[in-house]
Amino acid sequence: MNSFNEFGLAEPILRSLNEEGYVTPTPIQAQTIPLLLGKRDVIGIAQTGTGKTAAFALPILNHLAANRVRPQPKTCRALVLSPTRELSGQILDSFRAYGRHMRIQSALAIGGVNMGPQIRQLAHGVDVLVATPGRLLDLAKSRAILLDKVEVFVLDEADRMLDMGFIHDIRKIIAKLPKERQTLLFSATMPSDIAELARHMLRDPAKVAVTPAATTVERIDQRIIHLDRGAKQKALADLLRQEPIDRVLVFTRTKHGADKVVRGLNKDGIAADAIHGNKSQNQRLRALGAFRDGRVRTLVATDIAARGIDVEGVSHVINFDLPNIPESYVHRIGRTARAGADGVAISLCSHDELPYLRDIEKLIRMAIPATGSVEKPRQSQGQQPQHNRNGGGRNEHGQNGRGQNGRGQHKRGKDRGQRHPQHAERRGDQPKAGHKPRDNHGRPAYNGENHAGATKAVTAQARPIASTQPIGGGIANVAFLQQR
Ligand code: AMP
Repeated sequence: MNSFNEFGLAEPILRSLNEEGYVTPTPIQAQTIPLLLGKRDVIGIAQTGTGKTAAFALPILNHLAANRVRPQPKTCRALVLSPTRELSGQILDSFRAYGRHMRIQSALAIGGVNMGPQIRQLAHGVDVLVATPGRLLDLAKSRAILLDKVEVFVLDEADRMLDMGFIHDIRKIIAKLPKERQTLLFSATMPSDIAELARHMLRDPAKVAVTPAATTVERIDQRIIHLDRGAKQKALADLLRQEPIDRVLVFTRTKHGADKVVRGLNKDGIAADAIHGNKSQNQRLRALGAFRDGRVRTLVATDIAARGIDVEGVSHVINFDLPNIPESYVHRIGRTARAGADGVAISLCSHDELPYLRDIEKLIRMAIPATGSVEKPRQSQGQQPQHNRNGGGRNEHGQNGRGQNGRGQHKRGKDRGQRHPQHAERRGDQPKAGHKPRDNHGRPAYNGENHAGATKAVTAQARPIASTQPIGGGIANVAFLQQR
């Protein structure tokens, strides 16, 4: 499919796509839309950034346009479940944008905000409801929403949902849905627990897939700067002044770190905002809004806060801290180079982070070009690396990274007992092993030798990574979105 006109979508939808500037369907859209219009259940293996939201939103809107009935009070006709508040908000925005020439009632049911307005919105019934699982169940419990009239059900980012401990909530929600419905499941990976869930949830599903984020990595100009931890704040300010930046996402490993970086930049006269789990929903939305419309060029984020955020025109990603989970590096740098654009990813790497760098280079199967010295700074010799002082390499949520290189081997901290779904959006979502591209392409994996024991400035040459294998046996492999 080379054009949206070929799908046979309703005219008001085509009009809004035209206004959005969408000309060519992305690979996931080209495959998924005809299947959904044909009323099939679909499993889509795709990440944020591939155009997956429109892949399910457009056929849903088309279904609503073709079957115009008023939703009954306290019901919804299409239900989209998503793991985080931010992603839910973005999905709703997409529905509203694509459906702007139709009369569509839509609502958001997410945690962290008052339930009253949501109850009132649902009272007359809505066509489209986008929800996080915990809040949806609370609304269902108080009978503000009845789920027995759902015609189309979408489970988005299913692997993250499971990582975040939502499986029981999802099962409870599915039990409330009518048997007669169309079901779509989107996931970046297809580990066995998702396959199992899909077997129960979907009827004879068609499967479509786009290759994962690793392909994106090839388009990004990546650099490492080796430096002392104490020199990072100044180096960041220098980069922000020198680099030709449109919009930059700066990543820190902790919430506290994000606030500290913002304070440092502000002191230096550089406008910056932070977005992380300690901020209220309103603060997060305000920061995102200012970043999106260009009022603030620099947004400092933690991994969890940044997942699923889709802002166009991020020219740079700067890793103020290297992530202790290598897959997070791929997710972080994937925030740039969106929609076919090229991007720049610069990582500030202090001596104590060299093991993290080794893990990252192994995962992406390339040595990242580096400048600076990897020599251990004199003043920190004999000291504990800073992230260890703060609790054994813990991330934003006090959780340890996975047990590699002797890190993160402790039992998880108190967060372990806080698996209440209401708070799950704020919890760490540890990528699963399934995110990891396999090492069996016949090419030797990079072993990190450039950094081990080196004492001089390093300037490694980028090596291409092996192409990633399709995930899930027998699923068609489609190129990751390259052009838009
Ligand atoms: P998603 O993967 O749904 O988060 O979409 C990623 C971004 O691509 C969003 O900013 C969409 O607005 C944009 N997008 C989706 N489909 C298209 C398309 N066919 N042409 C151009 N942009 C698109």
